[in-house]
Amino acid sequence: MMRLKARFSSAALLLWVAGVGWSSMAVPAAAAADSPGSVAARPDQLAFRDLYRELVETNTSHSIGSCTLAAERMAARLRAAGYPESDLHPFAVAEHPKDGGLVAVLPGSNRAAKAILLLAHLDVVEARREDWTRDPFTLVEEGGYFYGRGTFDDKSMAAVWVDTLIRLRQEGYRPKRSIKMALTCGEEAGAAFVGAEYLVKHERQLIDAAFALNEFAYGVLDAEGVRQARGHGGQVAGQVELAVAPDRPVPCGPGGDGAAVAGQDGVVVG
Ligand SMILES: [Zn+2]
Repeated sequence: MMRLKARFSSAALLLWVAGVGWSSMAVPAAAAADSPGSVAARPDQLAFRDLYRELVETNTSHSIGSCTLAAERMAARLRAAGYPESDLHPFAVAEHPKDGGLVAVLPGSNRAAKAILLLAHLDVVEARREDWTRDPFTLVEEGGYFYGRGTFDDKSMAAVWVDTLIRLRQEGYRPKRSIKMALTCGEEAGAAFVGAEYLVKHERQLIDAAFALNEFAYGVLDAEGVRQARGHGGQVAGQVELAVAPDRPVPCGPGGDGAAVAGQDGVVVG
């Protein structure tokens, strides 16, 4: 997303990803104790920040990065929070060993209730050091903003999802519906392997859900009342109609984001 700066608390970010919108990005950063008189961050806020930093600082660009490594690191955090191996499903194919991902599940109490799916992509657009004022793969907080490749699109969302699963587990929360999280590679331009598509075709049971939360996706009803998907392509959801749309490059300044909203496509909730 254009220049990558974001200022937020985890809660505000969650509101954004839940669909509140762009305006929520500019809320006071409760976790940031970078201004005189600000309140010291709580331990859980610092834990979130550490997770977010690790994700941003794991290069997941398609040239030299590894989504598989990022997924492994997130799995390690979930494991440390108490998730058993049976609820952690890392995946990667031999042809694209660095384009792996992770599905994690917090089992629900009602087997008849379909799951909720939380989606985020791990890969980022290429970022050349010479195009950036700061190192794109170091999380920098400056003047109340975060800088770095993927701080917004989409590692903020991925970090919130992982942090949320960790918190729910630590609190002993047992949801009625299972909560599934899929972190995938292959959303950004230049991808050779689309993790979301792979899951639909080969691991469908892992991500089946009643509905999904995803970046830039929403639904509308057409004149006949039929559900229509809108928003970002390249991802997939729940009761799952898959429409993987090729991202198209958009003109942008040096170091900008090569992904574009592909128009109609993305998620259909059925
Ligand atoms: Zn994205």
